[in-house]
Amino acid sequence: MKEIRIFHEAIENTSNMARKIKAGQKKIIGHLCSYTPEELIYAAGFHPMRLFSSKSDIVLAEKHLQSYCCSPVRGVLEDSLSGRLDFLDGTVFPHTCDSIQRLSDIWRMNGKYEFFADVILPAKLNTRSAKTYMTDVLTGFKKELEKASGKKITDTSLHESIKKFNLIRENLSKIYELNSHNPGLIKGADLYAIVKGSMVMDKDEVAGLLPVIAANLEKIDPPSEKGKRIVISGSICDSPGFYETIEEAGGLIAGDDLCTGQRWFEGMIQEDGDPMTAIASRYFDRINCPAKHTSLTFRGENIVSLARKNNAKGVIFMLLKFCDPHAFDYPYLKEYLDKEKIKTMAVEIDEQQQSLGQLSTRIETFIHMI
Ligand code: SF4
Ligand code: SF4
Repeated sequence: MKEIRIFHEAIENTSNMARKIKAGQKKIIGHLCSYTPEELIYAAGFHPMRLFSSKSDIVLAEKHLQSYCCSPVRGVLEDSLSGRLDFLDGTVFPHTCDSIQRLSDIWRMNGKYEFFADVILPAKLNTRSAKTYMTDVLTGFKKELEKASGKKITDTSLHESIKKFNLIRENLSKIYELNSHNPGLIKGADLYAIVKGSMVMDKDEVAGLLPVIAANLEKIDPPSEKGKRIVISGSICDSPGFYETIEEAGGLIAGDDLCTGQRWFEGMIQEDGDPMTAIASRYFDRINCPAKHTSLTFRGENIVSLARKNNAKGVIFMLLKFCDPHAFDYPYLKEYLDKEKIKTMAVEIDEQQQSLGQLSTRIETFIHMI
């Protein structure tokens, strides 16, 4: 489908795409985490762009980060230090995992971009004061953006921004829903490109393309189901080869609990009422990642419900090497899913890894067993 190709082309050459955005007179604010309040950045007239590592060799970042730091953080720092992110006008660091927080300090001290902000979001989302605190922090960030852009962020511009992001979320959910009913309707690598592209491309373009993709998918005769339904869980999955490996091993990706998947786009923001409260509220209603706390069982319950809803035969935990928050959560999640008689396997990958060859045999065995 030609609309899906546009997403693939955009993610294959993000600097080129960034140049086009800048040619349209938009400044680009980069970020690394799905807790970034993108609606505020967009309402300020900036382009919010999720940063992914170019996976180049790590040379300059070694001087700043220990080697036991996750590959996305090391990779993005390397890209920045070596000038590959020179299209950026600023960067935002939400207060989430330790690696992102430490990167924020290094970035602030070595950065060369016009705008820099830390957004110190609460870590515990289940306390009485958390929502008021969250709204205050977001209001402070709004002021920083207003100062940088030289214009006031009005409620009208915030409502427009919320509508735009809701439209993107609604259509991504629709595409996932269609694929969940008929896994294989869309290849995992295409799904990956659509979500990653939505995180980096011009939001107006994305909002125009996604409804066309969803409508086209609705018209396609679903393929007969040949394979076992799988749900993937983890942090950032920036390896299209990982999806291909699962599919080649006889798996059908029916859903995910990924920061570069459903966790990024699920949960609508209320479109009426006070926009700042509405933006803050979504962070409480959406499925959290292990860098935020809601309850001892919330993540487990969510993965079980995802697996059941998608009729999955198994869950594959994709753990990025040195990603502590997800590694610490894994034993409890495995135990939780074991109790529910849902089969699981865990694989550890590194974004710098050249080949997923060794993994394919393990994944094949798992899919054969379930
Ligand atoms: S997994 Fe959590 S902390 Fe890590 S990038 Fe995603 S949202 Fe941020
Ligand atoms: S959540 Fe994990 S993979 Fe993501 S930035 Fe933090 S440590 Fe790295």
